[in-house]
Amino acid sequence: MQEFEYNNGAQSSEDDCLGYIDSVYCGSGVDGTGLRCVVFFSGCNLRCPFCHNPETLYKKGEAVTVSALVRRIVRYKPYFRRGGVTLSGGEPFLQKQFLLKLVDSLHGQNINVCVETNGQIVDAEMIAACDGIICDVKNQETDDLSAYEKFFKECCRQGKSLQITNVLVPGKNDSIEKLQSLRRIVLRRDPSLKVKFLPFRKLCEEKYERLKIPFPYACCREAEDKDIEKAVRLWEDFK
Ligand code: SF4
Repeated sequence: MQEFEYNNGAQSSEDDCLGYIDSVYCGSGVDGTGLRCVVFFSGCNLRCPFCHNPETLYKKGEAVTVSALVRRIVRYKPYFRRGGVTLSGGEPFLQKQFLLKLVDSLHGQNINVCVETNGQIVDAEMIAACDGIICDVKNQETDDLSAYEKFFKECCRQGKSLQITNVLVPGKNDSIEKLQSLRRIVLRRDPSLKVKFLPFRKLCEEKYERLKIPFPYACCREAEDKDIEKAVRLWEDFK
């Protein structure tokens, strides 16, 4: 499967900007506060073995200008009035100029914008532009969380609303050691920060089949309620 070069907001005209997206979905209740319209950016700097959106990694996606995308999003505004727009992907922070221009235009329409990121790109300008940040910590295959520390530090310095998530994969990152090291870097930054554990699911398996690429975590078991409850309990019991 061929991979593509990520653009960084190619200028399509003097006051517009071109970016690449996979799709727009309106009606999510799990990607930020209230009902959200989610824009899935194409391209990612990581290749997580449990990735739920592999289609955003390997296809170049749809080239779209900010103005055309905002026109499309505004049509859905009556549905997400109390929520807003969430930029997801893929990794939205890979397309800086496009993202900044898009956020600016959405703010011009009084639309709240938050971003879902993997936290590997610490860019003060993009963090400042968004109303809220959702950062998913990928500690399934690594113990090096230093990039997340820098990312959390910048969010806290700016006083940003930060939601940290962590996909719990049984046998990969649900051990006491993994939970403790995650807790350490989170609480060191801000004792009031919390982590929302998300259960690993394999609903994406058919996407991998369609793309004809292997699903690296196909052999892992899905997380059940009891796995999430155990992680929460351990988290709260740590001293
Ligand atoms: S950061 Fe997100 S989109 Fe990128 S590979 Fe990982 S799970 Fe997939």
